Amino acid sequence: MTMTIQEFQQHIKDKYGARDAERGTPATYMWFIEEVGELASALQDIDHKNKEEEFADVFAWLCTLANINGVNLSKALQDKYFKDGGPKGFK
Ligand SMILES: [Mg+2]
Repeated sequence: MTMTIQEFQQHIKDKYGARDAERGTPATYMWFIEEVGELASALQDIDHKNKEEEFADVFAWLCTLANINGVNLSKALQDKYFKDGGPKGFK
């Protein structure tokens, strides 16, 4: 099964959107950062399945943050990384 970033972001919105909007950005950002910490730990481990799970968690919470802030991640990625040859450096 393949899915686009937009499809996944919409899936997260459909499934958790109401609760995410109620929680708001500050608390959601804390969840996101907690998952980034879990990814940091997973990257130091040899358990590949755990790495996959933590990458998925980080991406899902990134989608949640985007959803409650009205950001279409697919569009944002295309605008920044595909237009005009992409960025010259990371900012
Ligand atoms: Mg996790």
